[in-house]
Amino acid sequence: MRAIVLTRPRQVEVVDNWPEPRLGSDEVLVGMRAVGLCGSDLGVYEGHRVTPALPWVMGHEGGGEILAVGADVTDRHPGQRVVIEPNYVCFACRSCRTGLTSACSARGIVGMTIPGLLAERVAVPARFAWPVPASVSDETLVCVEPLAVARAAVRRAGVSESDECLVLGAGSQGLLVCQALLAIGVRPCVIEPLAGRLALAERIGAKPVDRDGAGEFRVVFDTAGTPETWELALRSVSAAGDVVVIGMSDQRVSLSTMEVTRRQLVIRGSLIYDHPADFGDTVAAVTAGTLEPARVLRQGMPPGGAADAFAQARSARGKSWIDLSGWREARHG
Ligand SMILES: [Zn+2]
Ligand SMILES: [Zn+2]
Repeated sequence: MRAIVLTRPRQVEVVDNWPEPRLGSDEVLVGMRAVGLCGSDLGVYEGHRVTPALPWVMGHEGGGEILAVGADVTDRHPGQRVVIEPNYVCFACRSCRTGLTSACSARGIVGMTIPGLLAERVAVPARFAWPVPASVSDETLVCVEPLAVARAAVRRAGVSESDECLVLGAGSQGLLVCQALLAIGVRPCVIEPLAGRLALAERIGAKPVDRDGAGEFRVVFDTAGTPETWELALRSVSAAGDVVVIGMSDQRVSLSTMEVTRRQLVIRGSLIYDHPADFGDTVAAVTAGTLEPARVLRQGMPPGGAADAFAQARSARGKSWIDLSGWREARHG
């Protein structure tokens, strides 16, 4: 089958002899239609995140349609449209047993520790393939997973309608945090150095602010996670406010215990989402149409444009994604 693989850092190729996935008894076989690219994928692409093998199939945000189901699967059927929850948690470790599956110690991460979604067909544990109505577009399929990340961050911060919020960064995660906030009646302020991205944030309803005159916010979402945005977050958060860190960097930052105590700060890391509620709630929200996450996307690239899509994604205005629907339609036609 066809697949889009990383052969070495910054080298992406389309191949047509990739091995077919083996369908387990509790799995469904999904014909992929669309896959989004995010910062974690770019970490793999750039070689900062090491994968178990090369060449490697990347991608963890997307969905398609069920082509076949394993022998033990009774609640999914071929022809169903599905979006994939790409963190396969163990349900057995201490964190999973308490419901904090995002901290699972044995989590399989699609596209990072297990092969990704940028392939013609993938085998997915049935419980991680969420059925959606046929009316949900390919574009929306791409956005559900990163939107679940954004909504989980907002949920964990306990944001209420009267809270003043600041979002640092208007890359795809920043834009989706803005959308998650707008959906609960909060118009966030946003700081972003790239003018095109800032304009897109404004277009979806956020308020651009200058990095020097940001003000004081009950909640600051840091979607970049750099030492620079960390400093900006600490300067912008109000007393007893929350700094919610979503973006990641391995560079160390400094903060005195005096500052934490005197300003009564809450520093909250937010990693992915907890199964099943966060993902299920996000699927329900996009199905109901209360959010239109596809507004944060740029034009989809066909498989042949994947190398360009990866190369441009860091600075592109809007979220990048690969449109695999041509593979599906050629198959049916
Ligand atoms: Zn992602
Ligand atoms: Zn676990």
